[in-house]
Amino acid sequence: MRNLVSPSGYYFSNRLGRVLLESFEETIGRNGLNALLNLTESSSLIERPPANDLSLCFDIAIVSNLNRALEVIYGPRGARGLALRSGRAMYDRVVDAFELPTGFNDLAFRLLPVQTRLKIGVPALARVLTQHTDQTHRAVDRGSHFDYTIERCAVCWGQEAKSPICHLIVGLLQEALCAFGRGQEFRVQQTECRATGAAACVFRIEKEPIV
Ligand SMILES: [Zn+2]
Repeated sequence: MRNLVSPSGYYFSNRLGRVLLESFEETIGRNGLNALLNLTESSSLIERPPANDLSLCFDIAIVSNLNRALEVIYGPRGARGLALRSGRAMYDRVVDAFELPTGFNDLAFRLLPVQTRLKIGVPALARVLTQHTDQTHRAVDRGSHFDYTIERCAVCWGQEAKSPICHLIVGLLQEALCAFGRGQEFRVQQTECRATGAAACVFRIEKEPIV
């Protein structure tokens, strides 16, 4: 693929890199994932996936290149759907891999009212993803919604676009909200994207479920 983004010097933990690749594989199959990795000159990851450890060694440029390769192979519309699904597939794996720092055990957290779960869960997810990457994730409670901001967003790192392209994160947040909301769906919209010239990527998460 032309114009690959060069290594950034910013990283995901290996384990999060693994989670990402497994989530793509769930959505587009082993062959689809291999095609993405070949196209982005990351074919060494086919034979040797990232180690299952917490070292920060998985360059975020890989994430950005994979996201763009998805578009090259499946077209903008197809890629958007697949990125949303891959993001959703990531959520359970992220929780399994890192445990959400909610301050409650699983059972106690499950018993909290939905709005309390959102208030605790969304910032907890932001903390986990900040801790295990060189990105900064931050959730700000605006009353009726959260603004969820990512600095040094991996998905659009080094890219330029006319409209937001971080659908993977939209999917991840949708699935997180669905888990906090006991199966209800919540609207998540990317309002700012670094690829379009914004300082950071921002996602608006509504607190009331879609009826
Ligand atoms: Zn982004």
